[in-house]
Amino acid sequence: MYVTHLECPKCKSIFNHRKVVQLCQNCAAPLLVRYDLKKIKNKFCKKKLKYRSYNLWRYKEFLPIEDEKNIVSLGEVITPLLKLKNFGSMLGFEQLYLKDEGLNPGGSFKSRGAAVGISKAKELGVKSFAMPTNGNAGAAWAIYGAKAGIEAHIVMPKNAPLITQNECAVVGAKLYLVDGLINDAGKIVAKAIHQYGIMDASTLKEPYRIEGKKTMGLEIVEQFGWKVPDVILYPTGGGVGLIGIYKALLELRKIGIIDTLPRLVAVQAQNCAPIVEACKNKQKESVFWENAKTVAFGITVPKALGDFLVLEAIYKTEGTAVDVSDEEILKYQFLLAKNEGLFICPEGAATVAAAYKLLKNGWIKPKERVVLLNTGSGLKYPDTIRADFLLLKSDNSIKI
Ligand SMILES: *Cc1c(COP(=O)(O)O)cnc(C)c1O
Ligand SMILES: [Zn+2]
Repeated sequence: MYVTHLECPKCKSIFNHRKVVQLCQNCAAPLLVRYDLKKIKNKFCKKKLKYRSYNLWRYKEFLPIEDEKNIVSLGEVITPLLKLKNFGSMLGFEQLYLKDEGLNPGGSFKSRGAAVGISKAKELGVKSFAMPTNGNAGAAWAIYGAKAGIEAHIVMPKNAPLITQNECAVVGAKLYLVDGLINDAGKIVAKAIHQYGIMDASTLKEPYRIEGKKTMGLEIVEQFGWKVPDVILYPTGGGVGLIGIYKALLELRKIGIIDTLPRLVAVQAQNCAPIVEACKNKQKESVFWENAKTVAFGITVPKALGDFLVLEAIYKTEGTAVDVSDEEILKYQFLLAKNEGLFICPEGAATVAAAYKLLKNGWIKPKERVVLLNTGSGLKYPDTIRADFLLLKSDNSIKI
């Protein structure tokens, strides 16, 4: 294992990675896992990967697990990177790709964060954890928690997709529903943590979830033959996926595997777009978004703890942030399914709509290699299709 320490990206304080540490004890910012990249540079060999398991654990040099016995696995896969030939050329792209995270255990990319987060929690001797969630993260941590024998306390908005509530229930997690948003769920978790002394697995309040999500970035680069695409679009709520992909790219650059970075794009819903707003004004942090509401439930995050890291990733890669309406989300979810046979989640559909917007306004060039992150399976959101059906009935002539 090549981890050297945990580091605060704000005040640069350093913490011991062999203990459960949550936020920076000086300034309460999220902590990042740091590796001995020189050593990795000497040891890591692309060719060796050929002999490794075809899942995220193949990148073990870049992961924080000390003893492989602690790995908790539910059969993670390297998710497919699909070229959208039909739909891409209909829209005017020459090289449009979609990375389909819907094939992960639990049907969303949240299982990457949970696989690494739970494995590390097990390694550190954690017995129980609590977390607020919009659904998928709670479900993923609950199922991996069940496999690891770690008790899960999950707090989610009562409007979160029913299937994610059921996933928590079926594996025996303690599930609490709140009449509010993820931030309200967070307040309840904060109280419980304080009272019962259990680990806080809230987004970015423990450093290992990012490491799991980082593997999306490693995979994309490997899948392109150790080259980077021009643009990556990511549906952004808490932004951990984007922060993780950026961290992966920086680590790969530091060890000399890549030399340029793709432009990173945060995609949000029109009625919950704090990062887009902050990006417009070139701000370093976002402002709490009042009355957040979108069909893309996983990205209903009015104010993210790691907003400054998301914005840094955008600015440093010359990326941008784009918002799309619920109507566009549902329209592109339907059109992609119809033309490519892919039933993606509304969050993923938001990236399709955003990519097309950026192509039309010239920010993306037709020749550029563009990757959309579909963060979950459409099968987890059967109701969005009923809504779309109604939409289509009122306007049967949908054209691009
Ligand atoms: C959680 C979630 C997101 C947002 O992920 P972050 O990395 O926290 O921004 C996007 N899509 C789906 C399906 C999710 O469950
Ligand atoms: Zn700090």
